[in-house]
Amino acid sequence: MNDRNCFDVLIVGAGPAGSCAARAAAEAGARVLMIEKRMKIGEPVQCAEFVPRLLTREVNIPSETIAQEVQGMVTFMPNGEILRKRTPGFILDRAGFDKALAMEAAKAGAKILTGTRAVSREGDRVKVLGPSGEYEIRSTISIGADGPGSVVGSWIGQKNRKYMHALQHTVSLKQPAEDTEVYFNRAYPGGYAWLFPKGEKANVGVGVLKELGGEARQALKIFKERIGDRIGEVFQITAGRIPVGGPLHSIDVDAGIMLVGDAAGHTHAITGGGIPQAVIGGGMAGRAAAACINGDKEAIETYFDQWRNRFGAMLDKAVKKREEMDAGWGERNLTRLLKRCWIAYGEYYDEA
Ligand SMILES: Cc1cc2nc3c(=O)[nH]c(=O)nc-3n(C[C@H](O)[C@H](O)[C@H](O)COP(=O)(O)OP(=O)(O)OC[C@H]3O[C@@H](n4cnc5c(N)ncnc54)[C@H](O)[C@@H]3O)c2cc1C
Repeated sequence: MNDRNCFDVLIVGAGPAGSCAARAAAEAGARVLMIEKRMKIGEPVQCAEFVPRLLTREVNIPSETIAQEVQGMVTFMPNGEILRKRTPGFILDRAGFDKALAMEAAKAGAKILTGTRAVSREGDRVKVLGPSGEYEIRSTISIGADGPGSVVGSWIGQKNRKYMHALQHTVSLKQPAEDTEVYFNRAYPGGYAWLFPKGEKANVGVGVLKELGGEARQALKIFKERIGDRIGEVFQITAGRIPVGGPLHSIDVDAGIMLVGDAAGHTHAITGGGIPQAVIGGGMAGRAAAACINGDKEAIETYFDQWRNRFGAMLDKAVKKREEMDAGWGERNLTRLLKRCWIAYGEYYDEA
């Protein structure tokens, strides 16, 4: 194996988690390689693209990657109740956002290979499949930032087991809107439908749980019929799995492996949102990887403690609410259950 294929830190996956990890590790002086199986970073987009405004405290969001600002979130309950809550944020151009984060990592010195997939691992050697065929990469630390069905997670026995299944159409929007919209109904079992405005377009989608009888295609058809007078032509279709089973054990000290973002189950089990945790956790993991290379033997455990301290309680609460929502989905008064389980209502935050 030549020097070209030896790195301090190998990062698998160039989503927000991977790029933030790569940047942080490279800035701290580590030799970093980030590999991405897709040919183009961020494409195709599998996201409704909302991030809270507060994320700007963690990461630069270039203005050209903001498709629209939003002021609030409107929740539509099954019984007809409507609640508007102030939740300032942005609907991103997610492909542009992911590319911008990867550029920052490259500027910090990380090497990036696209069209290159991690396949398997033996000791400190990871077999990858790139455009020129299969070869091995050696690294002291590996960071799994490879999304919901993480192959790196499988190397340390960690696997997301519960998913919300999502389907989304990006459509034309007849009248502009300034809020995100979230719709609950028995037609979207265990999940919700959304309309997130993007100027003259909108992301219109559903997320459902198969365990509760949800079928995303049917649910989206119903939702689009209900809002049919506001939307038109379909520009893009995306489907994806959102882990909603809660955080995994995201480190293996002996193996020198850390998991971040969706690979670590860091999505919110109720909303399905995961970009902020990917960005924040990615940075933590990247810094820990570099510290480990520089001789800090406890750095990997420190990463675990750091993300738990920062957003572990929030994720744990969401998992509890997910369990409550799934168990109660058959209840006659669905609105009452949903008020306890949806983040826009005070009841969500009450201690049981
Ligand atoms: C339909 C939908 C809507 C969503 N809407 C929102 C939203 O509005 N707001 C929000 O905060 N979150 C949303 N999410 C969740 C959000 O998209 C994720 O939480 C976020 O992308 C996690 O970032 P990540 O870097 O961990 O993983 P990803 O963004 O999934 O990136 C993982 C990367 O790893 C690559 N990869 C996978 N396997 C390999 C391999 N073996 N080798 C090399 N590369 C590999 C993938 O190609 C991918 O580029 C949504 C998800 C879906 C599916």
